[in-house]
Amino acid sequence: MAHTLPDLGYAYNALEPHIDARTMEIHHSKHHQAYITNLNNAIAGEPELEGMSADALIRGLATVPEDIRTAVRNNAGGHVNHSFFWKAIAPGGAKAPSGELAAAIDQAFGSFDAFKDAFGKAGITRFGSGWAWLCKKSDGTLAVSSSANQDNPVMGAAFGGSEGTPILGLDVWEHAYYLHYQNRRPDYIAAFWSVVNWDVVAANFAA
Ligand code: MN
Repeated sequence: MAHTLPDLGYAYNALEPHIDARTMEIHHSKHHQAYITNLNNAIAGEPELEGMSADALIRGLATVPEDIRTAVRNNAGGHVNHSFFWKAIAPGGAKAPSGELAAAIDQAFGSFDAFKDAFGKAGITRFGSGWAWLCKKSDGTLAVSSSANQDNPVMGAAFGGSEGTPILGLDVWEHAYYLHYQNRRPDYIAAFWSVVNWDVVAANFAA
């Protein structure tokens, strides 16, 4: 069963003025689709890999044949990361964390504002292309990290990963913001806080 592009679930213009419709359309229909197409091509003829979810593929990179491992890392990573990102910025939901999630953020960072500073700094200082992450660690506490390219924390340390499972991610590739923000990545990150769906993040935290 080939991997397919998931529906966004909302209109390309639904996040304006924070993220513009043209960026969303190209990002979803071209960039995300390209990761999926390239993933399907990479694993073609490998029945065991073809039967695995993208999530299982990025958690098991060490067992992927070496000649296609980088392609799977980049493209299954891209598929997982974007599918996750679209949900976290879906319109609606709470505009700030509450309950146990808010308490965990306060415990880890001191305050919601201090968390936003730490997460924003992770995104701003990620050189080149990559992602900023808020992860839930195995002990239930939260940590901020960033990764290069399409690496995901769950890939493990050998593949650019870090501790924990993402509950929020931010794409800081230029393709995510350049049309509207050009080189102003900090402005894009500031706008991101206006579109985060904290109900989705809370559900990820509770999972
Ligand atoms: Mn992207």
